[in-house]
Amino acid sequence: MKDTTLIQLVNDIKSGKTKAVDAVKYYINNIKEKSYLNAVVEVFDDAIQKAEEIDKKVKNKEPLGRLAGAPIIIKDNMLYKGKKCTCASYFLKDFISPYTATVVDRIIKEDGIILGRANMDEFAMGGSNEKSYYGPCKNAHDSTRVAGGSSGGSACAVAADLCVASLGTDTGGSVRQPSSYNGVFGMKPTYGKNSRYGIVAFASSLDQVGPITKTTMDNALLLSVIAGADEHDDTSLRAPVDNYLSQIKGNINNLKVGYCKQIIEKIKGTPYFSKYKKVLDFLKSQGAHLVEISIENIELALPCYYILAPAEATSNLGRFDGIKYSTRNKDAKNIGQIYNFSRTDGFGKEVKRRIMLGNFVLSSGYFDAYYNKAKALQQNIRESFKTAFSKCDVILFPTTSDVAFIIGSMNKNPIEMYLIDLFTVPANIAGIPAFSLPFDKGENNLPLGLQILANDNNEGIIYNLADFIEKNYKESK
Ligand code: GLN
Repeated sequence: MKDTTLIQLVNDIKSGKTKAVDAVKYYINNIKEKSYLNAVVEVFDDAIQKAEEIDKKVKNKEPLGRLAGAPIIIKDNMLYKGKKCTCASYFLKDFISPYTATVVDRIIKEDGIILGRANMDEFAMGGSNEKSYYGPCKNAHDSTRVAGGSSGGSACAVAADLCVASLGTDTGGSVRQPSSYNGVFGMKPTYGKNSRYGIVAFASSLDQVGPITKTTMDNALLLSVIAGADEHDDTSLRAPVDNYLSQIKGNINNLKVGYCKQIIEKIKGTPYFSKYKKVLDFLKSQGAHLVEISIENIELALPCYYILAPAEATSNLGRFDGIKYSTRNKDAKNIGQIYNFSRTDGFGKEVKRRIMLGNFVLSSGYFDAYYNKAKALQQNIRESFKTAFSKCDVILFPTTSDVAFIIGSMNKNPIEMYLIDLFTVPANIAGIPAFSLPFDKGENNLPLGLQILANDNNEGIIYNLADFIEKNYKESK
């Protein structure tokens, strides 16, 4: 069972070689043994019973779903009816999900088992998983380092073999960056590819759920299961969902691979750059065409994100008032105090900072100067990507240009942490799909991620290239 892939495990369960109950027990045992990682904040008490139901289906030769018996962990901002969903916040510490998120429901309908909830940065705001009510999640390869964030628990759980696959959410990089730091595979799909119904909103126009897995093929399978239109989410795309596995062809002949001039400027001279160049040379030797492209204003994607995301967060978090949702301060004597005291107790420092930022950029007098300007810039960046994709099929970026940092080392200045999102936010701003895969090692032999971006709905092209690199590329010595 150790380090088994999702596809392998499902095959073994379907053929009777492995029992779903044994798989669940194996992961529960690993979660206990590696509890110091603090990746999983709750194991659901009915997981074993759900596994027994799958084993019974296998025994009775009943039809089985595409994820039969696979234990999957969800980020703590996804609703699963009857279970806690806290967004790693004191404010929601006792909140019980009233219904199930569509993406979670689709896993269950394909006979997957929801094993538990993963740690995260509070309300998905952060890039290190240090800002959690449950305390930091550690990196799976070095527990003195961060797991990354905000889906740190989801990525660490896959890397440390605490589950076979997981779900995270990505608003500005939160699936890809922790995947890169933990050496696993994470997809931020096209905006609208996955339903957001039942996902606690951070910045609704940017949020996307994404699978985190041990291989590209596992990722393609999991995305095929969860993606697609949902009547409960009007922003979900109506286009039919591809079977992404069938788009993995095993060759990259004539693929036009773009490298972006402005990004090269940023990483030139870093240890990452030589590794990046090496992978480009390799792709060329395998039949791809390299194309230099320019993405106008790409360096402005980061400030654009740190205006739009807090603005939307401010509005979304308005519902946490100490009345309908959230933990109410007991000393509050009137409605004003309920709001005031409960929010003061309930939200952590980073969440408060985002709310203040968001209110500032939305306030009258500043609305045009900040919010409207950022919206116009977003459109401009999206068009720059469209122009670039008229010349190439995919673009390669770093996910981050460095390995995971030491816990506590980035806490002096919030801007330092925001800057880590430089290479991940452009895909959210443009709404396009982007995937991070481990491709080489950096300092202390820790994993480094490579990011593949493509035009809207071209996840299949990304998976084909990623699978090719995963199977054929040899990292530098
Ligand atoms: N690090 C980014 C932020 O703090 C991204 C978060 C996310 O994608 N959820 O906003």
